[in-house]
Amino acid sequence: MTTLEIKDLHVGVDENGVHTEILKGINLTFKTNEVHAIMGPNGNGKSTLSAAIMGNPHYHVTSGSILFDGNNIVDLPVDERARLGLFLGMQYPSEIQGVTNAEFMRAAINARRAEDNKISVRDFIKKLDRNMNLLNMKEEMAERYLNEGFSGGEKKRNEILQLMMLEPTFAILDEIDSGLDIDALKVVSKGVNAMRGENFGAMIITHYQRLLDYITPDYVHILMDGKVVKTGGAELAQRLEKEGYAKIAEELGLDY
Ligand code: ADP
Ligand code: MG
Ligand code: MG
Repeated sequence: MTTLEIKDLHVGVDENGVHTEILKGINLTFKTNEVHAIMGPNGNGKSTLSAAIMGNPHYHVTSGSILFDGNNIVDLPVDERARLGLFLGMQYPSEIQGVTNAEFMRAAINARRAEDNKISVRDFIKKLDRNMNLLNMKEEMAERYLNEGFSGGEKKRNEILQLMMLEPTFAILDEIDSGLDIDALKVVSKGVNAMRGENFGAMIITHYQRLLDYITPDYVHILMDGKVVKTGGAELAQRLEKEGYAKIAEELGLDY
């Protein structure tokens, strides 16, 4: 079992010499074999949390720690966090010109492997075929330049393909459901569910409950104004769907 612990994490951004605090003391413990949903209204720090965990240098950790199996990773650059087994699937994945999707994934897999244990082309292609089949992806998607000219839905599917190929220890999926039709949502969920198991943990960030009809979380956390204000099980997401964030905020005595 691997753990990822977020302890009293404070994160902010500096712009024009002004520091704005966004995360105001987050405490969360993630373990492999668990799926956590992080829900909350827009603009409350969900993406900031995912950026801080992954090591986006734009977001400054002013205090607190992020412990990967007990080791503080707050000062590690993004690529080293990826090598440890952290993966971020993004709301708006970027395009990379001149690198095909397949080349990118093979390089990323090998970056996490020792020199004498690189994946063979044959094994890579087998694994790629299997996963692309499961995600109903067209074969040519592997040979296209990364995310270039991909539709919104194709980008999301491709993020899940990368997830399945890289087999990270922890995946953070930030609004992977935004803009997906129901069929794409089902495919994306199928991919995440196929990953579930002893060596994998996920944080699913979403504004809406809909995705959680297909990926049943073990824990649901509500993030408001930079803090986790409530934690529960899958039923908490259903309650949110029925009652909305305003009701929960009122109950907790928070402004919303
Ligand atoms: P969410 O993902 O929950 O919608 P975000 O983490 O994107 O929320 O944003 C939380 C707050 O931090 C918002 O008020 C947003 O405007 C602000 N914020 C996020 N990123 C930046 C940034 N790079 N520069 C300045 N403010 C930011
Ligand atoms: Mg947002
Ligand atoms: Mg966001």
